Amino acid sequence: MESVKNILLDGVAEPAPTSGNKVTVVGVGQVGMACAFSILTQHIASELALVDVVADKLKGELMDLQHGSTFMKNAKISASTDYAITAHSKICVVTAGARQKEGESRLDLVQRNTDIFKGIIPQLIKYSPDCILLIVSNPVDILTYVAWKLSGLPKNKVIGSGTNLDSSRFRFLMSQRLNVAPTSCHGWIIGEHGDSSVAVWSGVNVAGVRLREINPDIGTEKDTENWEEMHKQVVQSAYEVIKLKGYTSWAIGLSVATLVQAILRNSGNIHAVSTLVKGQHGIQDEVFLSLPCVLGINGVSDIVKQPLTEEERKMLHHSAQVMHEVQNKLKM
Ligand code: NAD
Repeated sequence: MESVKNILLDGVAEPAPTSGNKVTVVGVGQVGMACAFSILTQHIASELALVDVVADKLKGELMDLQHGSTFMKNAKISASTDYAITAHSKICVVTAGARQKEGESRLDLVQRNTDIFKGIIPQLIKYSPDCILLIVSNPVDILTYVAWKLSGLPKNKVIGSGTNLDSSRFRFLMSQRLNVAPTSCHGWIIGEHGDSSVAVWSGVNVAGVRLREINPDIGTEKDTENWEEMHKQVVQSAYEVIKLKGYTSWAIGLSVATLVQAILRNSGNIHAVSTLVKGQHGIQDEVFLSLPCVLGINGVSDIVKQPLTEEERKMLHHSAQVMHEVQNKLKM
């Protein structure tokens, strides 16, 4: 007897193998799933592949998401421990690896996650040789450098989620102080996504009004309103959330989804992401740090030449030095 499918449907042509906007997420832990959920619920990609080493968890997460397909514009979701599932991805988001335990710094994770990357990056490139790698695992700046080396991709195609999240945390805290919406508060955190990040106080503004013109001491120790405390809070944010709930997830998931959207839509949006900064602001080392970057389908198309004060430039150089020292000790 003929199947219902054959009686119902008259085949006209083979369906296309891919939508053209496929995204892979490697690592289905707290961060990977927050990224996947943000990408799917905002309809940023219509095709998503998930990879992890823990098969049961992977299948559970897959089924749970697939059961919501009708609420997510019918996105096609797949998952496997085999990287063949990732073929034809435009963007591969890497969130796999160890996360900080309470009191641990991001840099403490470096060799463990570098070793994990040796098994992941070549597999992603094998199946999607033209993809953009978006690295999220920590320490994100060092691991973006590791991914760049392991992948052989050009520098514009290897991006770290960097201080896009830190900048969002900063803008939120600023909004609380001023009672103005976070998206109307403008401030950039650059450098390391971590303890040596740099707040660009010289450019912090609302509606083009630079706060340093109102308060020349803003962001310095002399400031009687102690605005610098806000940057300290940004640096402490992850430690605090990890202490309270064990991990961070929602904000990084939303941050990554915004970056994926900027790339897939070729929008030219500017975000603080980790990029190769050799030659920027006088940095000579081959290190990745966050600077404001123009994002599109080829990854980073431009880096904004942000004017920095001497103090900010020095702090950025300190970030670069910290990265370089850690990289020198890495066993690649
Ligand atoms: P998690 O422990 O919840 O998840 C990690 C996942 O990676 C697990 O599912 C694990 O099975 C998987 N994994 C481990 N080795 C793998 C391999 N070889 N191949 C594929 N998958 C593998 O951790 P999490 O909270 O999701 O954090 C993940 C990473 O993201 C950590 O390094 C964390 O520090 C980092 N992180 C980065 C940011 C950022 O702003 N860049 C923010 C939060 C967390």
